[in-house]
Amino acid sequence: MTVLKKYRLLLVDLDGVLWRGTEVLEDNVSALKEFEKRGYRIVYMSNNSSKSRREYARRIRNLGLNASRDNVYNSGYLTALYIVERGIGDTFVIGENGLIEELILQNIPVIVDKDYVDYVVVGLDRYLTYDKLSKALQYLLKGAYFIATNTDHVYPVGDHLEPGAGVIVSALSTALKREPDFIAGKPNTWIVDVVLRKYGVSRDEVLIIGDGLETDIALGSRASVDTLLVLTGITDSRCLEKSSYKPTYVSKNLLEVVDDIL
Ligand SMILES: [Mg+2]
Repeated sequence: MTVLKKYRLLLVDLDGVLWRGTEVLEDNVSALKEFEKRGYRIVYMSNNSSKSRREYARRIRNLGLNASRDNVYNSGYLTALYIVERGIGDTFVIGENGLIEELILQNIPVIVDKDYVDYVVVGLDRYLTYDKLSKALQYLLKGAYFIATNTDHVYPVGDHLEPGAGVIVSALSTALKREPDFIAGKPNTWIVDVVLRKYGVSRDEVLIIGDGLETDIALGSRASVDTLLVLTGITDSRCLEKSSYKPTYVSKNLLEVVDDIL
């Protein structure tokens, strides 16, 4: 596999690539250090909105990689950017502090009690209550714009799966009998639009690296961006065989392809 050399920007998923729960995926991390040395621009992405970019950047830096708020894109930040582009307005949030931090950083008013809001944003919320769901529903019935940070059904924690943001989104979709107006995270192509614009690269200079077929690989196929599936996370070769999503490249881990990206 020596065809990877045309890329300039690597769009790298976090969970299942840098780490799996609390376990660090050392082979992938050393490969990324090598890509940094060779001058690749590396941008990190995650569908998890519960932590802010600041927190993710710190965790990535602790692995010895370069990261700051500027090269980390999570679904909370992507949601905030979308609201800025559509027009800032009062926003009711189901979500955790990381999501609220990203909204406030973009000067979006996060509302706790008001008769009407412009947006209802729904992300992963491990402190979800019936009262929050009920409030969100009232706002949506009055016409608020419905944004999901992402619709992942589950996410991995250690050796098991926990309910993802998609579960909460579905609860509201069921009540409303309609889907969200906008989904900020993968596989929506919004992240690719934002990254291409910010870094001034073209689609064929970007390589998406991730472990998820329905997120990372689906994103690549929707956005016409090449993908490298690493088998260090939630996908094994059997899942891959059964899936309709086909990555451009597959590798056991990132270290295996270091010499192909030159
Ligand atoms: Mg992943």
